[in-house]
Amino acid sequence: MFRMFLIKYAEIGVKGKNRYLFEDALIAQIKRTLRRVEGRFSVTKESGRIYVEAVSDFDYDETVAALKTVFGIVGICPVVLLQDNGYEQLSKDVVDYMGRMYPDKNRTFKVQVRRARKNYPMDSMELARELGSDILDAYPEFSVDVHHPQILLQVEIRQYIYVYSEIIPGPGGMPLGTNGKAMLLLSGGIDSPVAGYMIAKRGVVIDAVYFHAPPYTSERAKQKVVDLAKLVSRYSGPMRLHIVNFTDIQLYIYDKCPHDELTIIMRRYMMKIAEEIARKEGAVALITGESIGQVASQTVQSLTVTNEVCTMPVFRPVIGFDKQEIVDIALKIDTYETSIQPYEDCCTIFVAKHPVTKPNLQAIRRSEENLVEKIDEMFKEAVDTAEVVEIDE
Ligand code: ATP
Ligand code: MG
Repeated sequence: MFRMFLIKYAEIGVKGKNRYLFEDALIAQIKRTLRRVEGRFSVTKESGRIYVEAVSDFDYDETVAALKTVFGIVGICPVVLLQDNGYEQLSKDVVDYMGRMYPDKNRTFKVQVRRARKNYPMDSMELARELGSDILDAYPEFSVDVHHPQILLQVEIRQYIYVYSEIIPGPGGMPLGTNGKAMLLLSGGIDSPVAGYMIAKRGVVIDAVYFHAPPYTSERAKQKVVDLAKLVSRYSGPMRLHIVNFTDIQLYIYDKCPHDELTIIMRRYMMKIAEEIARKEGAVALITGESIGQVASQTVQSLTVTNEVCTMPVFRPVIGFDKQEIVDIALKIDTYETSIQPYEDCCTIFVAKHPVTKPNLQAIRRSEENLVEKIDEMFKEAVDTAEVVEIDE
């Protein structure tokens, strides 16, 4: 029944020149995303509207599912496109549309007409009234409600006539590429894929870094992170996943520093290495899945001490969320099932029984002095030997 979609987008404050950038980025991302769908499509912009039209056989459900991953889209309206063959034909087609779309007709509706082509022989009010009464004649179970209709039937008169009434919600946000690039610290957990999704949703392109500690963390754990990166990339577009071998640094810290400070010192080095890779890759911020109080390393004091090594802004979009709120998003974006696979992403032998929850910055710095001999060299080694996996869903 549908071969075309009207794409609704809106972001307050996107005006003037920025509006074109926004629209062009949105169109580019729609085209890129539709490449993974069977069928060929034309994506066009016409008087401030974006239309997606199938120009070959296509799979409707797959197409809608793909469009639902494009940030910047607020609504997806399946449209029936009609030739203008006079009022009689239009009325017949509109009545037919209502009949097929709504098997259950115990509903209220309103017809809204927009005439972009002013030479149409009837004006908008007249046309809406006539179409409304023809629908009621054909299906008396419907009723009209002009204030709060359950069905808002939109008829737009342009070169062709566009008829639609359904709005499938899109993800919202801003088109990718409109807001620079950031580096996501991606672990195998629930939180960091959600954090990446949330920042990408604001139009930020993301790359990711994963700290791997073989043989203490397994190949399966690494594969899980690759899988998560793929799931996030359905929304965020292609990304480069940097896999850092963190084993030597972890062992060195384990050897030289008090065990209750291990996690916090490790996290400081993770941030530093991530920032170095970010700088090399042209990213200007870091992203983590930290949430206040979730674990010992995420108390406010721990976060402060971890953050102290960073010179780039660190985006922590789930900082104020409860676990369940993060889980709800993970379920929505389909990363949850993968995240809960039981492969350790951080070696348990490195985790102290009683980690400090209120680390003192001076004390941590003193402990880190025990690392001076080799840490710079190890840091460089870790950055230089990072493996890059190109992720493209
Ligand atoms: P997640 O569910 O994202 O794994 P978590 O609750 O397990 O989070 P932590 O292990 O304390 O929390 O990690 C906090 C954040 O640090 C993660 O959200 C992630 O951004 C980053 N992080 C932790 N471990 C790694 C790792 N091995 N590689 C990359 N980033 C990591
Ligand atoms: Mg984790």
